[in-house]
Amino acid sequence: MRVDKTVINELNRQEVLNVIRCNGSISRTDIAHMTGLSVPTVMKIVDSFIGMGLVCETGKRQSNGGKPPMLLEFVPDAYFCVGIDIGATKILGIMADCAGNIAYRYQIPNDSSYSDEEFLAHVADVIHDVLTNSGVARPQILGIGVGMPGLIRSSDSMVVFSPVLHRKDLRLYDYLAERFDLPLMVDSIHRALVFGEKKYGLCRNSENFVTVNLGYGIGAGLFINGSVYSGSSGFAGEIGHTILNPLGPRCFCGNRGCLETLGSALAMTRDAINRIRNNEQTMLTEMVSGKLEKLEAKHIFEAAKQGDSLACDIVSNAIDYIGMGIANLTNIMDPDYVVIEGGLSLSGDFLLKPLKEAWRKYRMNYSGRNTRIVLSEFGADATAIGASAMIFDLLMTKGYNPKKLLDGE
Ligand SMILES: [Zn+2]
Repeated sequence: MRVDKTVINELNRQEVLNVIRCNGSISRTDIAHMTGLSVPTVMKIVDSFIGMGLVCETGKRQSNGGKPPMLLEFVPDAYFCVGIDIGATKILGIMADCAGNIAYRYQIPNDSSYSDEEFLAHVADVIHDVLTNSGVARPQILGIGVGMPGLIRSSDSMVVFSPVLHRKDLRLYDYLAERFDLPLMVDSIHRALVFGEKKYGLCRNSENFVTVNLGYGIGAGLFINGSVYSGSSGFAGEIGHTILNPLGPRCFCGNRGCLETLGSALAMTRDAINRIRNNEQTMLTEMVSGKLEKLEAKHIFEAAKQGDSLACDIVSNAIDYIGMGIANLTNIMDPDYVVIEGGLSLSGDFLLKPLKEAWRKYRMNYSGRNTRIVLSEFGADATAIGASAMIFDLLMTKGYNPKKLLDGE
């Protein structure tokens, strides 16, 4: 079997950088031991990272004889990446360093009533603001990563279909590439979330995990045996469209009773509005001053926390279905972690505790024994942080060096 040398080189770079990033002070020989690479290969890769300032030498280790080895450390704020999170109700932009620390944040509302032209212009405005106002000097900015819900074709980054955003056949990548002279990547929110957890988050040391985004839609990002898994056509992870009740509500995908129609933020607000219109009493009506079109899942969680019986009922039904969906997923994947992301995850333990109970009720005894269900540490910034991690990782594995570009090499 022939293996492409470029691919091997990219994997080696990725592995070396990960080892330096995750292990604090470390010597070249230690890296060679940990990665199984030869010392000359490690030296060559380390030199290129030192050349761009991303890794530095921090002094020699104490030695009981022999030549003391020089220690290396990752320099997280040597460079920054822009991360963009496009959601149903907001467009969030951040400037993050190479450890996911946020230096600047800018957010504007998003609305499905915008025309495609208006929508594209708003995304560009957010990027422009972050580039201009973050205070980070341009030579330190490596690129722009964008994460958004929907089906993104990997060959040309075309947004084929995004039901959550009410968009289809959108050339977002081309539009942004014409306006910003920086490396750019547009990919699905689920891939962004996986990158965020793997590079900067709870799954840094895991080779098998999934992220489950609970928002207007529901979807999963899959990381299997050390790689992001995208599937044969690039659309893997559609846990939201696994069918939990074939007699359930109609889904936009054409089927009935998909998880997304039973446990998503959209399903919860739909159920609440239907029940309020059937004259059920609830504090929700007052919370949105009678304007039911303003009702969001966050209101329902808030009312449930205060003991509102209709809200409690809706939250508990939705969580039961989510637990069922995650049980199906863990039965198939048997991952180390299921990281819960998205708007619903902001409810913290109020969501997590009953979710774990529902998951235990439905999962098979023998699968998922070691699986831990956890909330992302990144909260509302998870997708934006993941998007910045995604472009950073792509550039570093490809050997991108902005200094060489600046020097005209
Ligand atoms: Zn569906």
